[in-house]
Amino acid sequence: MPESTLTTSPKPRAAVLRMKEYHPPLGNRNGLRLDFNENTLECSPAVLRVLREIGSSDLTRYPEREPVERLVAEHLGLAAEQVLLTNGVDEAIHVLCETYLDAGDEILLPIPTYSMYEVYASATEAKVVGVQAAADFEFPLERLLNAVTPATKLIAIANPNSPTGKTATREQILKIVEHAPQAAVLVDEAYFHFFGNTVADLIGRFPNLLLARTFSKAYGLAGLRIGMLAGDVESVRWLRRVTSPYSVNSLALACLPAALDDKEYLDWYVREVLSARAELFSALEALKVPYWTSEANFVLVKIGAKHAQFVDQMRQRGILLRDRSSDPGCNGCVRITVGTGAQMMTAVEALIESLDEIGWNATAQQEKDATT
Ligand SMILES: *Cc1c(COP(=O)(O)O)cnc(C)c1O
Repeated sequence: MPESTLTTSPKPRAAVLRMKEYHPPLGNRNGLRLDFNENTLECSPAVLRVLREIGSSDLTRYPEREPVERLVAEHLGLAAEQVLLTNGVDEAIHVLCETYLDAGDEILLPIPTYSMYEVYASATEAKVVGVQAAADFEFPLERLLNAVTPATKLIAIANPNSPTGKTATREQILKIVEHAPQAAVLVDEAYFHFFGNTVADLIGRFPNLLLARTFSKAYGLAGLRIGMLAGDVESVRWLRRVTSPYSVNSLALACLPAALDDKEYLDWYVREVLSARAELFSALEALKVPYWTSEANFVLVKIGAKHAQFVDQMRQRGILLRDRSSDPGCNGCVRITVGTGAQMMTAVEALIESLDEIGWNATAQQEKDATT
C-alpha cells in the first residue's frame, strides 16, 4: 500500500471549526441516575415483550416508519402528514436547523435551555441569539419579542424548559408564533407528561408552529432513540426531505405501538414522579436549600460555590446528579432528576450527608445571596 502524502486531515467547514465540543457526562453511570432526566426505573413491560419476539429476519429489512407515524398521529389527534418520527428529538432539532438556517439567519433561544439547540445551530452558518431568562428563570416573553428580527428563522422553546423546569403559557407561545411568522417556532414538549399542558391542538392552525415530543423521558425509551415532530403539512413535507428515511430503527418502530398502548404504565410512572417531586420540594424547604419550582421530572437547586464538591459527594454515595453551574445564569446550580418515591428518599438521605460533608450552611448561603 502506498503511503498518503497528506500531512494533515481535510479541513472542515468554518462553522465546524468554531463549534464547541459537546460531551455529555456519560462514562461510568453506575448508581442511581438522577443526571439525565430519564425514566429512573424501566419502560413498560409490554415493550419488553415485543422486544423478546423480534426475530432475526425482522432485522434484515429496512425500517418502515409510515404505519407507526399514522399511529402516533392518531394518538395526538393529528393527520399522518402532520407527523414525522425522528431518531430522538435530537434528530428533530438537527433537521430543523438544516431545513431553516442559512448564512445570515438567526436562531432565537431563551436561555438557559436545552444544549442541543445551540450545538446543531452552531454547525450551520446562522447566528445563535440567546435571550436570558428573567429573574427566577421566568419566561422572558417581552425580551424575546424584542429580539425577533427579519433574520429570525428558528425559535426553540422547551416547555417545560431544562434545566429550570419553568414553563411558558399558551398565550406567551402564541404571541411569539404570531409575532414571528417568518420563523419556525419549535415547542419542545419533552417533559409534557409531567406538566400536562400542550400546544398539540394548535398544530395546523399556525403554519409556523412545530411541536416535538420524545419517548426518552416519561416512556423510559432513551436507548431506543425515538422522538417526533409535528407541524403543518407543508412544513413536515420540507422536513421530511432533509430527514433520512431510515433514521428510526426497526426496534424502535416495533416497540412504539406497545409503549403508546400501555397508558396504565405511563400514568403510574408520572403519578409516582409527581408525588416524589412534591416530597423533594418539602425536603429542600426543610433543609433550606434554594430551588426553583419545576413542572418537569427534575428540580434545579442552588448549592453555591461548592456545587462541584456536592455533586462529587453525592456520586460517592451512589447518586448521580448534573452540575449545571456553567449554564447561563445558573452559577452554583445542580439539577436533580426526580424518580420514584423510594429513590428520592434514598437521594434525600445522601443529600443531607453531602451538604454536611461540604460544610454547607443554609444561613451563610442566604446571607451571601442577599449581598450579591
Ligand atoms: C432530553 C431532551 C430532549 C432529547 O430527547 P431525545 O428524544 O432523547 O433526543 C429534547 N429536548 C429536551 C428539552 C430534552 O430535555
